[in-house]
Amino acid sequence: MPEPAIHKAAAPVIVIGAGHAGVAVAAGLRTRGYGGRILLVDAQTELPYERPPLSKELLKPGAPEQPVPLRKQKYYEDRGLERIAGLTVTGIDRADRSVLLSDGTRREYHRLVIATGARARPLTVPGADLGNVLALRTYDAAARLKRALVPGARVAIIGAGYIGMEVAAAAATAGCDTTVLEFQDRVMSRVTSAPVSHFFERLHEAHGVRFVFGAAVTAVEGSGRAERVVTSDGTAYPADVVVAGIGVLPNQDLAEAAGLDCRDGILVDEHCRTSDPLIYAAGDATRFTGGFDGASQRLECIQSALAQAELVAGDIAGGPARAAEVPWFWTVQHGVRLQTAGVRHPGDEVVLRGDPADGKFSVAYLRHGRLAAVDTVAGLADFRPAKKLIADKALINPAAAADPAVPLTDAVLAPAALAAAIR
Ligand SMILES: Cc1cc2nc3c(=O)[nH]c(=O)nc-3n(C[C@H](O)[C@H](O)[C@H](O)COP(=O)(O)OP(=O)(O)OC[C@H]3O[C@@H](n4cnc5c(N)ncnc54)[C@H](O)[C@@H]3O)c2cc1C
Repeated sequence: MPEPAIHKAAAPVIVIGAGHAGVAVAAGLRTRGYGGRILLVDAQTELPYERPPLSKELLKPGAPEQPVPLRKQKYYEDRGLERIAGLTVTGIDRADRSVLLSDGTRREYHRLVIATGARARPLTVPGADLGNVLALRTYDAAARLKRALVPGARVAIIGAGYIGMEVAAAAATAGCDTTVLEFQDRVMSRVTSAPVSHFFERLHEAHGVRFVFGAAVTAVEGSGRAERVVTSDGTAYPADVVVAGIGVLPNQDLAEAAGLDCRDGILVDEHCRTSDPLIYAAGDATRFTGGFDGASQRLECIQSALAQAELVAGDIAGGPARAAEVPWFWTVQHGVRLQTAGVRHPGDEVVLRGDPADGKFSVAYLRHGRLAAVDTVAGLADFRPAKKLIADKALINPAAAADPAVPLTDAVLAPAALAAAIR
């Protein structure tokens, strides 16, 4: 239910987690004129910071030795946003409308927002606990990794998803001997099609990165520290540092313990409300139903975290609702940007626009003839029109879309052409 613009309730809106989603909820509440107390509780001690640079700019030689803050300290002060850093919320008492903090204190809430994000999926093979086996989620981990990326160091990366690929680019740039071990038969297979995967494989190989596909890691071995990664066929890959980039798990434990509905993510409705009307959730921790074909999904990207934060702020503080945006994501590897609008499915028709050999192309994904997603590589010409066409579920003529000289908007089947195509 919308709140009055200035409410006098003494208990604050408590936001658990001051990452991209949590900070955006707090900012969005103030932007909408919410005058009550807002308290952000975060496990991390630093000023809340950006995560995307952790696997990109911050790993580059000569990059600043500090995280990139989401907002300056003054931003929080000017808006009266209270922050408790370095403490976790350890429990939610829904009957009492309060949360328990790791220092033993209890805080009452007026509304509660769970923005606890996700954690790196742990590698569970023997030896995964050796000190130089890293996962990349926090600035501390990025700083440790960066120190290990010295020329000649042997870097074994487990998983060729976005994070693994960005780390591979950084490692190769730093002069490391870089090997990526991937279970599937191509890179980024969960999120993109074969032409895009193969383009990035060649790009990385040109920078000296080695790929091993079909590699099932069974152990990390070494005395006291990781010295090699072993795969199921018995091959041992020597390593001075091992990076596991094998996906993330939503931080839903608090919500689950409080009896909120969760299923591989905290379940939220179209307003980001959980199964308790006083408790919201936003960001990587959530699962929602919606998008192109109304599927149940969990998105792990900045755009989704910010969009959900807007929904939460809007529902608590009132004000105009922003139109839902098509999800989008980017990655940068060896200076080449892949930007994706929409969410591709493996069964989508793949329409290549341009020749990957030119170093610049895009791929349109058609689902039942409608534009469902687009990947753009090293150019954004198709990106903005694609977002609109995906939102409109536009029917596309694949032959026209396959010609990169034809703007995507001109590949839309007009009603007359559509009628002819159906006849
Ligand atoms: C290395 C890296 C690179 C990425 N690159 C991109 C990119 O290029 N583009 C893109 O769109 N996305 C990228 N992402 C994903 C993006 O960062 C996430 O989608 C985004 O951070 C989600 O925001 P969030 O607020 O849900 O979670 P987070 O940013 O993870 O914030 C959650 C916060 O909650 C805190 N927390 C958890 N539990 C508790 C608790 N019990 N009590 C108190 N605090 C708690 C955590 O400490 C954390 O600070 C990247 C992620 C990583 C790790």
